[in-house]
Amino acid sequence: MPQYKRVIYIIIDSFHPRALEHCMARGELSAFSFLIQKGSLDPDCVSIFPTMTPTCTSTLATGAPPSTHGIPGMVWYHRGERRFVDYGSSWLSFIKNGFIQTAQDFLYNLNHRQLGWQVQTIYESLEPRGYYTAAVNPLIYRGNTEYIAHIPFIFKLLTLFQLEDTKVYGPKGFCLGRAYQPPGDLRQRVEEVRYWGKLGINDKFAVRAAKWFLQQEKKPDLLSIYLPDTDSKAHADNPDCCQPCLTRLDKELASILDCFPSWDEALAENIFIVVGDHAQSALMPGKQSLVNVPALLRAYSQARAGEDFVLDRDIAICSNERMAYIYILTSSPGIKKDLVKCLAEEPKIDQVIHKENSRHHVVTDRGELSFCQGTSYFDCYGNGWEVTGAWEALDLKIKDGQIQYGDYPNALERIAQCFENPHGGDLVITAKPGYLLLGEGVPKWYGRGSHGSLHKEDSLVPLIISGASQKIEKPRLVDIVPFIKTLLP
Ligand SMILES: [Zn+2]
Repeated sequence: MPQYKRVIYIIIDSFHPRALEHCMARGELSAFSFLIQKGSLDPDCVSIFPTMTPTCTSTLATGAPPSTHGIPGMVWYHRGERRFVDYGSSWLSFIKNGFIQTAQDFLYNLNHRQLGWQVQTIYESLEPRGYYTAAVNPLIYRGNTEYIAHIPFIFKLLTLFQLEDTKVYGPKGFCLGRAYQPPGDLRQRVEEVRYWGKLGINDKFAVRAAKWFLQQEKKPDLLSIYLPDTDSKAHADNPDCCQPCLTRLDKELASILDCFPSWDEALAENIFIVVGDHAQSALMPGKQSLVNVPALLRAYSQARAGEDFVLDRDIAICSNERMAYIYILTSSPGIKKDLVKCLAEEPKIDQVIHKENSRHHVVTDRGELSFCQGTSYFDCYGNGWEVTGAWEALDLKIKDGQIQYGDYPNALERIAQCFENPHGGDLVITAKPGYLLLGEGVPKWYGRGSHGSLHKEDSLVPLIISGASQKIEKPRLVDIVPFIKTLLP
């Protein structure tokens, strides 16, 4: 028995605090309720910007913001390679960007080429200190052990065998859906969910694999589990109440607790951390939700996904649902100013953000605000800022000499971290609640929920910590990995 408690780290894709509250109020979540009663729930953990899974899970795996981990979103423009990077925002992205390119970006490049080498994943930092770490279905998995990720035969056939099994490097314990399962009887256990449900990247598969790790003689000191199904449910149905997805998830969570002689003993041996990567907000019905950014910017020539190394385009528009990057690809003088003016005229766009010298400018129909790091005002995270102009643009207020965030939690730090990412765009736009920004990445049909913006509806996630004597005050996603490192000193 180790001298420390092991950590079970569960990441739920799209986890809205109100969905948790609704389902708990109906008495439907016995496992979640148990963990909260025996530990703590903070419903206001602040996500990263943009509130997109590759960006958020990179932070949840490294503790680093996008400025250093370098993953700007689900969709971005690679200036060096003059192409769009799309980790699979939709099936259409596989067609537009090419099946081989999209699969390589998702399976290999995200972890081994695009995630910054100056940051370490939690697996890379804990294993040299003697800890055994394991990850089930992680998006961000970079570690020191070599594996062969298997490409399903049907995909090899579809790509005329140009897509091959590929070497990846992960933690000592590793399971990646259909692509890789550790040797042993796990393969039989997941047999029935192997082929269906996003090639094993689904909740049921992940929980079966997680239970397998917990039932081995040598258990991981850190076991991370990524659960994606709530995201699809919230997109399709209702972000506020992920019924019956959270109820189903609660049963899966209960089955993890059942791996121990009792639920209390599970907490005696382990610390459970359960967190969302981002939340979701409700969309206007049907086509009313769409903001056609390419049409607004029709005066500029636009790069298209799948085009070969085209040099004469003015801009690239990368939609990350309720946030979009505009990359300026031409050296035409004054283009940035003209783009800001054009975008700011669209009433469904919330903020148009750009950076000049060291100042960020936020243009809205509530006025224009500019800010940079400084010492005039401090916020509850201890960050100091110079702020001038219309504070309403980011719903900022001053209380007892401190900046208070309203509708846009921790907006100043999150915007600064977004713009310091070398892979980010020249302009960032966000949509008002209810709207979705079209561009490369988002198909022209969508459901009831979405995310990506700075708004609190997309940005605040529940954080449950159970089995630990400590908690995180004023938690942000960037605080979770440092917290885990204090638990495994
Ligand atoms: Zn989503």
